[in-house]
Amino acid sequence: MAVINCPGCKKKISDKAKQCSHCNMILADLDAEKMASLNRINRINQGQKLMNYSFVAMLLFCGGFLFMFWDNVEQGTWQHTTAMACSALGFIMYIVIRIRLLFFKRQK
Ligand SMILES: [Zn+2]
Repeated sequence: MAVINCPGCKKKISDKAKQCSHCNMILADLDAEKMASLNRINRINQGQKLMNYSFVAMLLFCGGFLFMFWDNVEQGTWQHTTAMACSALGFIMYIVIRIRLLFFKRQK
């Protein structure tokens, strides 16, 4: 008995299972064509999710950055620290997501 990833929810299930115990997808029904279209949909969703994350990271970065400089926040105050933390976090998140997107686009 081997363990495979469910094509619907990507959770680990037995390859002998006729139905996924997580999302109740009927695996016996799946032919190559259905699998291909499911994979395509999953890929689009995954790409979309990454794009959304990168947008949030960008907002976080820009928000923290603008707050720091436009509002003339004094150094050492909690506002300054929060703004710094936001832009640093946003920046790191953005870089990580862009790298993930790069690898994601490379794989076929
Ligand atoms: Zn499933």
